[in-house]
Amino acid sequence: MKGLILNIQRFSTHDGPGVRTAVFLKGCTNDCAWCHNPESIRPRPEVQLFPERCIGCGRCLEVCPAGAHEVVEGEKVYHRQRCQYCGRCAEECFAGALVMAGNSLEAEEVMAQILEDEPYYRHSQGGATFSGGEPLMQKDFLLELLRRCQERGVHTAVETAGNYPWTFLDELLPSIDLVIYALKIADPEKHRRYVGNDGERVRANLLFLGASGKPLVVRTPVIGGVNDTPEEIGGIARFIADFPELLYYELLPYHPLGKAKLQSLELEEKEHFATPPKEYLHELAEVARQFVGQVRPN
Ligand code: SF4
Ligand code: SF4
Repeated sequence: MKGLILNIQRFSTHDGPGVRTAVFLKGCTNDCAWCHNPESIRPRPEVQLFPERCIGCGRCLEVCPAGAHEVVEGEKVYHRQRCQYCGRCAEECFAGALVMAGNSLEAEEVMAQILEDEPYYRHSQGGATFSGGEPLMQKDFLLELLRRCQERGVHTAVETAGNYPWTFLDELLPSIDLVIYALKIADPEKHRRYVGNDGERVRANLLFLGASGKPLVVRTPVIGGVNDTPEEIGGIARFIADFPELLYYELLPYHPLGKAKLQSLELEEKEHFATPPKEYLHELAEVARQFVGQVRPN
């Protein structure tokens, strides 16, 4: 069975307990205005172009079967609409000007990379974390990886933003040890404006999950001008306050995305957002502590 993988990151310490291998699956069901991983959104391979790195070697023109690379009036041009996403140009571009976002990998290939660090997981109580994008978009492939991890005794965590039918997550829960759930905005109108939907399904799924008894971390990226208010953060904390297996609530500061990443995919920045100061994040954490025992501002 094959899945579309954006990246596999070894020795991750931010995606669950201990030392972990984080597997990022490509494709997302949300449309967050501040997304800092735009290459993870579309559920298909893509070529990222960083023209400032191009050394003009011409290898991409030679290997492309679709004529998607050309030199026009001395300038190297990439015609995205002609691209068949075979990945040959990115393989040949040693300057790193062309980067393939999304590789189709067999479950066995992913597992081989995960299992390389088995001894580290044992010593640190770590494991494998599946993230995205939205990893539940590739539910069957994800389930295959989770079951294989379980067979090998590797602890599993899934990072999700919850925008899919509840049956998706319900089916996977027996194979997951920890869910890291992103609830970004409490207010439905704001959720619609900044995430592209009113968040009803995201909140409903979180309620089901909270009642399921599965160990759970809830995370909110705090974005200046969007959800950086006591009302928003307090509203989310109140919503999750009674979950019996909530390990902690985590506040993550928004970090602006480099423009080069957007330009590499010919995307526009939708809006400019501010990073909340660290001290202010601690103030918001105090608001959340009125409802939730363990709050971590990071
Ligand atoms: S292979 Fe890379 S460095 Fe060479 S011309 Fe193409 S984009 Fe530029
Ligand atoms: S991914 Fe393949 S089809 Fe697309 S530009 Fe590169 S070589 Fe051409």
